[in-house]
Amino acid sequence: MFDTVLLSQAQTRLTERRSARAVLTARRRTEIYAALPEAADIDAQMRSGLVRAVRDAFLGGARGAAALEACRERNLALHGRRAELLVENGYAPGALDEKPDCPVCEDTGFADNRPCACLTQIYGGLQRGVLSRRLDLERQSFDTFDLSLFSDETDPAERESPRDRMDLLQAYCRKYVNRFAPDSADLLLRGGPGTGKTFLCACIAGALAAGPRWVVYETAADAVGYMEAEKFLRDPLSAERADRLLACELLLLDDLGAEFATPFSQSALFHLLSVRLAEKRRTIAVTALTEEELRRRYPPQLSSRLEAFDLLPLFGGDLRRR
Ligand SMILES: [Zn+2]
Repeated sequence: MFDTVLLSQAQTRLTERRSARAVLTARRRTEIYAALPEAADIDAQMRSGLVRAVRDAFLGGARGAAALEACRERNLALHGRRAELLVENGYAPGALDEKPDCPVCEDTGFADNRPCACLTQIYGGLQRGVLSRRLDLERQSFDTFDLSLFSDETDPAERESPRDRMDLLQAYCRKYVNRFAPDSADLLLRGGPGTGKTFLCACIAGALAAGPRWVVYETAADAVGYMEAEKFLRDPLSAERADRLLACELLLLDDLGAEFATPFSQSALFHLLSVRLAEKRRTIAVTALTEEELRRRYPPQLSSRLEAFDLLPLFGGDLRRR
């Protein structure tokens, strides 16, 4: 599943890349033709031979097939002669061939009616770019994970250190990313300020976005804002953003509980989580609220939905001060 806006941006990148290469090829061809007129002559023969063969092929039947076959053989010989000529003059044998960057899809972006790996790679990069505006994907990733940032002092109430807990949870999250699928669990990351919630979010988002999975990060307050503007102001940009919240494969809903508690915000959040659950799209909610606070703040249907999420409880000092 793809974010259609980003997918079309990725296709545009591919088109730009294709035209940039066409310009380079044309320039190189002009240079070589000027130096080696015979090469230009061979190319002209190959082209006109092909045009004739295609015209004959339209006649159909055995005559058309024979014409195409004869043309193929003639062009193969001409191609060989051209390669010799190029090598004799210090060029690469394929200097006049236009080679696609991606042999699988020939730079169209699609192969077998599916997005090609070259296109999804560009898409993944664009998606990481979008997420990077909100999350520090460069410094906060599974690859750069630094457990020493977390205190190794045992917390009497938790009977373990924040470092041990984070070690456990980051291992869980790695597994979650590797096995991510429509039937994965929804997660609830809970912890006070600076316990590493957003840090884990960034690790998960970065790894899945590169996949590429369609990942959207939003704070609960902004999510509610988009849904509100869509409903009451009929604002098209907000509507597009609200649609993305519903449609993405993974939604990271940060700061749940920091949004204004209004009847609208509560029903909007319930609607969001319900639709995503029904459509088998996964949600990771991040909150500083305890279970008791969630129950007090939200109506029972919403708080019980959140309680059904797999809980990842974080604790400890303020990571951001370190
Ligand atoms: Zn490709």
